[in-house]
Amino acid sequence: MGEYWIYEHGAHQLVRVHKGSCLHCRHGKGTGRGGSIAHGKWHGPYADRDEAFRQAAALGRARTRGCNVCRP
Ligand SMILES: [Zn+2]
Repeated sequence: MGEYWIYEHGAHQLVRVHKGSCLHCRHGKGTGRGGSIAHGKWHGPYADRDEAFRQAAALGRARTRGCNVCRP
């Protein structure tokens, strides 16, 4: 069963969809470097991949896509 998260970069009009197991996501904890908390926001988890992408699109950011590392 999958788990998907959306990371919204507040400053860059950038949205990325990750799998929960991705090293950049770590089930919504991010890389653990604190800075990501200040500049972005996690949405999730979503059990369904399509739902995660729908929610990502609904954020209305100019650049929305799946992570290049975990390829959700
Ligand atoms: Zn990822």
